[in-house]
Amino acid sequence: MFQFPLSVPRLILLSGAYLLKKLENNWENLLLRVKKLLFLLADLIYQLKILTYHSIMLTQIINAKILTPQGWLKDGSVLMRDNKILEVTNCDLAVIGAELIDAKGMYVVPGGVEIHCHGGGGGDFMEGTEEAFRTAINAHMKHGTTSIFPTLSSSTVPMIEAAAETCTKLMEEPDSPVLGLHLEGHYLNIKMAGGQMPENIKDPDPNEYIPIVEKWNCIKRWDAAPELPGAMQFGKYITGKGIVASVAHTQAEFEDIRSAWDSGYTLATHFYNAMPGFHKRREYKYEGTVESIYLIDDMNVEVVADGIHVPPTILRLIYKIKGVERACVITDAWHVRPVTVT
Ligand SMILES: [Zn+2]
Repeated sequence: MFQFPLSVPRLILLSGAYLLKKLENNWENLLLRVKKLLFLLADLIYQLKILTYHSIMLTQIINAKILTPQGWLKDGSVLMRDNKILEVTNCDLAVIGAELIDAKGMYVVPGGVEIHCHGGGGGDFMEGTEEAFRTAINAHMKHGTTSIFPTLSSSTVPMIEAAAETCTKLMEEPDSPVLGLHLEGHYLNIKMAGGQMPENIKDPDPNEYIPIVEKWNCIKRWDAAPELPGAMQFGKYITGKGIVASVAHTQAEFEDIRSAWDSGYTLATHFYNAMPGFHKRREYKYEGTVESIYLIDDMNVEVVADGIHVPPTILRLIYKIKGVERACVITDAWHVRPVTVT
């Protein structure tokens, strides 16, 4: 059975075998033997590689449909050690000594990177405590998330500081799933506040955000409404520090979005939510934030893809226009505990 080339020598041998296959009509007998030999050697290298794993505890998922960068792999297997993937192969022969998990034809997909999430399992990142962070993160890790950017709703500076301190501590732990802090606000349009706490919402203030950014390296993303005074200066400053600027809770129209793009904003927060689409004012028609974001080809969008925040037809439209390269799905989950549905 053909197996994925897993090492350079094996790849060379397999390439040689296939090349000879093309020529075998002319030099049938000799080349057939050489080809068989090359396949045997390639297989031997693979088996030797597997043998080197035998001294350690292995887990192997077999009989799965595995999503790989090259597409779906049927009847393959995933070989793991200490919960880390050693390799993915289309060979589902059991490795001697490995603990087997039979996926029974189910899907095996890469873990989720959660870029917008307020909490879970009863813990909210706004609490700022280690306990709240660990509770929320563990709840998400149980359901397919492997790394996470904890999100704060519009907060006061002391709340941001408390969360940043906890986030920094957790990020320093070995193999930490925490990749950085996401601040959703508090520089938002009050008219589009939605579930954000209005008492914390204000215009961007450099005297406030510069010291925060200078002090806390853990902040990786900060959202704002582009139409607010100072929002362009804010976007330029934070993106200059390597922080992603995202358009959120806004009434921005095309000129605002184009200026935002020029000032470093590259993402739209929970696309379609807390932002207007095409609308009328008296007898005149106006593009909304949504259409404006579509018009900036390279602007990325994140979507709460639950079929409720955005209906399935619109999800298809987003996929059609932005594609997989420019769209990602998020939970935007709150602190509530999951329930078991039977
Ligand atoms: Zn949110």
